[in-house]
Amino acid sequence: MSDKYLDLTRSGPLAVVAKKLGLPRPAKLRRTDPRSVDTPLVPGPVLVLADEGSTAEATTIAEGLLDWDLDVRRDSRLPEHERWGAVILVLTGLSHPAELSAPALELGSTLRQLASSARVITLSRSAPAPAPSPDGVAPALAAARHGVDGFVRTTAKEMRSGTTANGLVLAEGVEVTAPSVRGGLRFLLSARSAFVDGQLIAVGSSAGSEPQDWVRPLGGAVAVVTGAARGIGAEVAAVLARDGARVIGVDVPAAGEALAVTMNRVGGIALQLDITAADAAERILELARSRYGHLDIVVHNAGILRDKTLARMTADRFDALLAVNIAAPLRMNDTFAGELGGGTAPRIISLASTSGIAGNRGQSNYAASKAGVIGMTRALAAPMAQRGGTANAVAPGFIETEMTASIPPVPRQVARWSSSLQQGGQPVDVAETVAFLASPQAGGINGQTVRVCGQLMVGQ
Ligand code: NAD
Repeated sequence: MSDKYLDLTRSGPLAVVAKKLGLPRPAKLRRTDPRSVDTPLVPGPVLVLADEGSTAEATTIAEGLLDWDLDVRRDSRLPEHERWGAVILVLTGLSHPAELSAPALELGSTLRQLASSARVITLSRSAPAPAPSPDGVAPALAAARHGVDGFVRTTAKEMRSGTTANGLVLAEGVEVTAPSVRGGLRFLLSARSAFVDGQLIAVGSSAGSEPQDWVRPLGGAVAVVTGAARGIGAEVAAVLARDGARVIGVDVPAAGEALAVTMNRVGGIALQLDITAADAAERILELARSRYGHLDIVVHNAGILRDKTLARMTADRFDALLAVNIAAPLRMNDTFAGELGGGTAPRIISLASTSGIAGNRGQSNYAASKAGVIGMTRALAAPMAQRGGTANAVAPGFIETEMTASIPPVPRQVARWSSSLQQGGQPVDVAETVAFLASPQAGGINGQTVRVCGQLMVGQ
């Protein structure tokens, strides 16, 4: 699926017309090709800045980046002809909001010299949870840490030319050398995070491990992807396979032909199965074990739409949707509990949606199911951690698939323009985030919902 407006306004006479009329002129995003791995990590040198209280941690981070052969600098002056590939702002030592001013302005002074599709990334600490005792939490510390949230989201909205701004938020006690801090940093720096924008990803623990091979971090893993015949699911299967996993793709028998084509392309196994079947999880486990000996990663991707405003909604539309989008994953997880792992650490990754965060007219059933996915994911975090694994959700915004191609043209174009990147995402953008959360380096990220929405102007 493609956005014709985006193609037409990149150059030529329509680009001039769009400029004159003040219409959006979305940038071409730097992306990885799921069938190849040789996109450079960042499009230029990486600057590491810090607030006064974070200089030691900034030095540790800068030294760590050298492992990836990056051109790392600490001085924000850059020769006129050069462009920054990324600016990392380390704010882990903030204790009062006033301390944000100097590093924020230093970042501001670099923005005119960013490359296209550059990255701005903050590292900060999570605001302390409210304590019951009257003197439990210092308000200034909480204000400083929570302030980073608004700073990142606004910076993202001011970026141009495909540049994104995101943050990693470290729980108390998580070192900047923890696997998911380094892994998260690498993901956010890379072209894999092209459509992740204005987001803060929480690193809650030091769990996880750096992969032996950053290019194929899923070596040894066996994954199942539901709804793998087309759209996002087909791309998730391709990216997991590229990253080294052996993949089982599941879809309904009616999509059997497309599923076979996809799974042949990625060298995986096709399983024709309706996930609402009572024994769906048993059949998947059986196949994984008979072919590979174990199952490690479950991607709950299959989903349907049955849109109608609530006044016109019917029981069959509401119930059919809940059965696929949330009841099936819940039932399957009950069977998978304690059965995942053996190749790599267990992972459950479920597809939510920005509709489940912000609501969306005509989607009471869909939004309930997708908010349900977010609730399910939070509840799974503790039991999965106990088994050495994680459960996370990915919430796409507007992604160019057959599902969104069915939206009438005007609201479709409005939806594209409603994100900071002024365009829809591609299935590969969602797939890259799923693959990151499946990886060993994401073991400290648990119970989270990561939005892949280009900072869609809905929701939080
Ligand atoms: P899609 O309609 O293109 O593909 C969904 C696939 O799921 C299809 O191949 C379909 O046959 C399969 N499927 C449906 N019911 C099934 C069942 N009972 N058993 C097995 N397979 C079944 O959808 P997509 O756009 O690729 O979306 C994938 C996921 O991402 C869905 O959960 C969707 O809700 C979510 N999502 C998509 C977008 C978007 O913009 N496209 C946005 C937010 C969330």
